[in-house]
Amino acid sequence: MSEPAVPWYADGLRFACSGCGACCRIEGHVWVDEGDIRRLAAHLGLELDELGRRHLRRVGRRYSLIEKPNHDCVFWDDGCAVYAVRPAQCRTFPFWPEWLESPEAWQEAGEDCRGIGRGRLYDAAEIEAIRGGAAATETGPPRGCSCADE
Ligand code: SF4
Repeated sequence: MSEPAVPWYADGLRFACSGCGACCRIEGHVWVDEGDIRRLAAHLGLELDELGRRHLRRVGRRYSLIEKPNHDCVFWDDGCAVYAVRPAQCRTFPFWPEWLESPEAWQEAGEDCRGIGRGRLYDAAEIEAIRGGAAATETGPPRGCSCADE
């Protein structure tokens, strides 16, 4: 049996969020899975239906947070208004599979995020664990959640 390949980030990677909000204030999707949706609803004291109508949009088979007209996340309010229960996509940034593909991809991510490459050193095992969480947002919505189609 062959040995597992050593990732290019075997010596770890540095990251420390500066709180600048750059990743919360750009056009794109914040994918949410059933766990994310239930945590947000409980935190905000909303029924799933109401959370769906106010804060989610349907994109194909998946659900994403709504954006404001200026592309800020619906929960951006000079900081994340739901930080304690922010979706897995937000919690796992920037250790996403696409940014971990190569040193070049990591460097590219750093062009938009000033926290990449500085601060705390995450070791390879931590990175793998976080990356696993980042890849787990493909599930459907909970029943009773009525969200607008995009
Ligand atoms: S949920 Fe919070 S951390 Fe995630 S994009 Fe929105 S404002 Fe940013």
